[in-house]
Amino acid sequence: MLATNAFPNRLGRSWRHLRTRWETVPVYDYVLATEPLTAEQLAALRWDPAVGVADAGNQFHYYRITPDRRILWGGYDVVYHFGRSIREDHLDRPQTFQRLADHFAATFPQLEGIRFTHRWAGVIDTSTQFCALFGQAHGGRTVYATGFTGLGVGASRFAADVMLDRLQGLDTARTRLEMVRKRPPPFPPEPFAWLGIMITTWARAREDATGRRNLWLRTLDRLGLGFDS
Ligand SMILES: Cc1cc2nc3c(=O)[nH]c(=O)nc-3n(C[C@H](O)[C@H](O)[C@H](O)COP(=O)(O)OP(=O)(O)OC[C@H]3O[C@@H](n4cnc5c(N)ncnc54)[C@H](O)[C@@H]3O)c2cc1C
Repeated sequence: MLATNAFPNRLGRSWRHLRTRWETVPVYDYVLATEPLTAEQLAALRWDPAVGVADAGNQFHYYRITPDRRILWGGYDVVYHFGRSIREDHLDRPQTFQRLADHFAATFPQLEGIRFTHRWAGVIDTSTQFCALFGQAHGGRTVYATGFTGLGVGASRFAADVMLDRLQGLDTARTRLEMVRKRPPPFPPEPFAWLGIMITTWARAREDATGRRNLWLRTLDRLGLGFDS
């Protein structure tokens, strides 16, 4: 069972399964966490700590209150590096952490002066349909799932069940799902992958600012690509 997220697995190196290399691209996502809020600060927010929040932009923030009363605040920038590059130093991106801090200040003006004590980043396996994809090799003795596009906490558990079904050769409601049987179109080679991702990122930010979905995004919609696929 191969579940290596954005990192290449051994199959991707063989000619026969070269396609698996093209089906996802690695993008980087970033998170901040504040120092613990005082009881007064928390009460003033009137926010039920059990409720996580995501705003509704294309470039959305996600945030929640941790059990030790910090606000975890992430999202917005999703960064792709030319050539599907995965490198340790991509994890440190001061301009993105600063942007997140600015957006936090705009969202929570009542918490002015609060410090960020933690920051974190990770690499995400993005597929063209922003949804997990499933495959198998070696006559069904090897199975894999990837492409969760940053929505894998719940979905990777579902994917594990799909892979277990497949390894046992079972025909189940899960394995019959179209989203399990069908594979998303692969990303193109460079420089087209980079160009396409840059144009899409720009178009999505523009829609957030203007409310208008431009021709590029409407074309992706028609092709069944992206979040609305
Ligand atoms: C900043 C950030 C915020 C996120 N927020 C959310 C969120 O709010 N909600 C949500 O649902 N998802 C979120 N995600 C995405 C979620 O974390 C992933 O989709 C999920 O963890 C994917 O699970 P996985 O099992 O496929 O991969 P992982 O949990 O990454 O596990 C893959 C494992 O494979 C190992 N591995 C890699 N290559 C090899 C190899 N060649 N050989 C052996 N082992 C290997 C790795 O070391 C790792 O242990 C976020 C991701 C990031 C980076």
